[in-house]
Amino acid sequence: MQIFSRTLAPVVISLVLFGGVAYARDILTVEVTPSTVEQGGVCLIIASGSKPLKTVHGEFDGAEFPLPLVARDGTFQGLLGIDMNKSPGPHDLRVIGKTTDGELLIQVHRLRVERVAFSTQRLTLPQSMVDLDPETLERVNKESKRMRTLFKGYREERLWRGGFVRPVEGEVTTPFGVRRILNDQPRNPHTGVDLRAMEGTPIRACNDGVVVLVDELFFNGKSVVLDHGFGMYSMYFHLSEARVQEGETVAKGNVIGLAGSTGRASGPHLHWGIRLNGARVDPLSMMELNDYLQE
Ligand SMILES: [Zn+2]
Repeated sequence: MQIFSRTLAPVVISLVLFGGVAYARDILTVEVTPSTVEQGGVCLIIASGSKPLKTVHGEFDGAEFPLPLVARDGTFQGLLGIDMNKSPGPHDLRVIGKTTDGELLIQVHRLRVERVAFSTQRLTLPQSMVDLDPETLERVNKESKRMRTLFKGYREERLWRGGFVRPVEGEVTTPFGVRRILNDQPRNPHTGVDLRAMEGTPIRACNDGVVVLVDELFFNGKSVVLDHGFGMYSMYFHLSEARVQEGETVAKGNVIGLAGSTGRASGPHLHWGIRLNGARVDPLSMMELNDYLQE
């Protein structure tokens, strides 16, 4: 008898404890749009709790990202960018909400990443245009380091409002994600989308933001980068002219420069790119969320 009471005792205690926590009633509801996403795609994540929430964040493959936006209906929202090189298949998306009384509510969502058959583009250029002299190589390395540092920055406020606008009307000439092989050597993939634009065509800001870079870069030519807040940046390359200055605030649709063919460009066009918490995403897939994004 004595043996039984000793072994049963802890079980009873734990049952009492579980009954007291009311674990079954406090839940986090998570909505993911789209429910299946492609490499280079963007998801809108909306979370709400059965109890008032103080903060919410997500973890995707262990990397944290915020759901900082509190909508009018009290839900917490955030955008998750899927890098173009994210491996296809199911990935764990954990959403963690902290209630106003300090309780943690966790929801795990299996997010399937679909493989995209990015096309391959083979280009042949005179070797002298491909091999960079030491001085140019140093410049290129310095410029790419500056970009990487820029994209690590995080502005704790949302500047973008509602849907995104296309910076220029022109059709897509080179899609996002194209793998490039230059004189039989694999090069960096195409991390943005190329849009047809005549020399001098006005280029517009895709959303509200702050100008964080205006410069002439070796590969990208005259470039403008906007910070839209909460880890989102948009970039506009090969401009003939920039019409904004670093530090300036721009509104969605404002002219930020004119199209051109500066840097390494075969002709006038706009290269438009978006970074979202470090992920290289397709700007056109970002625009597919337009109907869901609140002002
Ligand atoms: Zn491009």
